[in-house]
Amino acid sequence: MTLLPEQWLKPTPQGLYCIPGDFYIDPVRPVDQALITHGHADHARPGHRHVLATAGTLAIMQARYHDAAGSPQPIEYGESLTIKDVAVTYIPAGHVLGSAQILLEYQGQRIVVSGDYKRRRDPTCTPFMVQVCDVFITEATFGLPVFRHPPDATQIAKLLERLRLEPERSILVGVYALGKCQRLICLLREAGYDETIYLHGAMMSLCELYQNFGIPLGRIQSVAHVAKDDLKGKIILAPPSALHDRWSRRLPDPVAALASGWMTVRQRAKQKLVELPLIISDHADWDELTQTIAEVQAQDIWVTHGREDALVHYATTALGLNSRPLDLHGYENEDD
Ligand SMILES: [Zn+2]
Ligand SMILES: [Zn+2]
Repeated sequence: MTLLPEQWLKPTPQGLYCIPGDFYIDPVRPVDQALITHGHADHARPGHRHVLATAGTLAIMQARYHDAAGSPQPIEYGESLTIKDVAVTYIPAGHVLGSAQILLEYQGQRIVVSGDYKRRRDPTCTPFMVQVCDVFITEATFGLPVFRHPPDATQIAKLLERLRLEPERSILVGVYALGKCQRLICLLREAGYDETIYLHGAMMSLCELYQNFGIPLGRIQSVAHVAKDDLKGKIILAPPSALHDRWSRRLPDPVAALASGWMTVRQRAKQKLVELPLIISDHADWDELTQTIAEVQAQDIWVTHGREDALVHYATTALGLNSRPLDLHGYENEDD
C-alpha cells in the first residue's frame, strides 16, 4: 500500500503537523516541538517548548520575545537531522535573514514546506535554493497574474528622484521592521545613497541584529531627538502604522511612501493615503511562483497563505500537476 503524503503531514488547529516526527511547522499555538521557517510574527510565535530554527531566526525570536523558547536548537542551511523517523533539512528561502524552507523526508517521500519565499536577489539574506521534491507546499501571497513586481532598482530610483525634487520635505517610508527595513537600506546603499538613514525607534534593534549577522547598513540613527529642520531632504523608515499617526508630525512635511508588494494595486495605495507607492516585496510574485513550482519538479503542489485558486488552476492545467489549496489558519502576512 502506498503512503500518501497527506497521511503523514496534515493541517491541525495548532498548525501543520508531521505525524511520524511528532512536530509542528510554524505552529500558531504553543506546542512541544516546533520547527520554525522564519522570524515573522505570524510564523514564529512565542511559547513553544523546543524550537528548531536557523541561528538567524532564533536570534530574531529572542530579540522579539526575549524568552523565545524553552530550548532553542540551531540548525544550519543544508544540515540534516533526524526527528523520530523523519529527516529534516533546512534550505534557504531568500525571504528574510535566517528564513528557510523545510525539507521533510519519510519512507522515500520528500515534502518541502516553503514558508515564505522570493526568488529575486536580496542583499540581506541567503538566496532561495531549488530543492527537487515530491510535494511542494508553496505560499501564494501574490498568487495572481496581476502581481509582477518590477526590478527593485526602479523603485529605489523613484524614491531618490523624489528626494531630489523636493529637498524641503522628508520622505517617510512605511516598511516592516523585519526584512523590508534592512533590505530597503541595503538597496539605497547599493544605489549610492550614503546619507544617514533615520529610523523609527521600533526599527533599531532588528537593524542592529542584522549588522551583528554581518549585513552592513551604513549610517543609521533613531529619529528621536533629531530636530525637525535637520530632517529636511532625509529618508525616514517607520512601521506602516506610523505613516499617518501623530508620531509623523515631528517630520518636516513628509511624503508618505510605502514599500510593499500590495502597491501594485493603485486602489490600495489610495486607501492608505500613500503618495509614493514603492513596489518592493519579500514574497514571490506570479512569475516567481510559477517558475518555482516548475523547477522543484514536484507532482503535488499544495498552495497556502493567500490567493490559492489561480495558482492551483495554473499548476493543474498548465503543468498537469496535482494541486490543491491547503487550509492553514492564522497567517496574516506582516511582511508583504
Ligand atoms: Zn514572512
Ligand atoms: Zn507569511
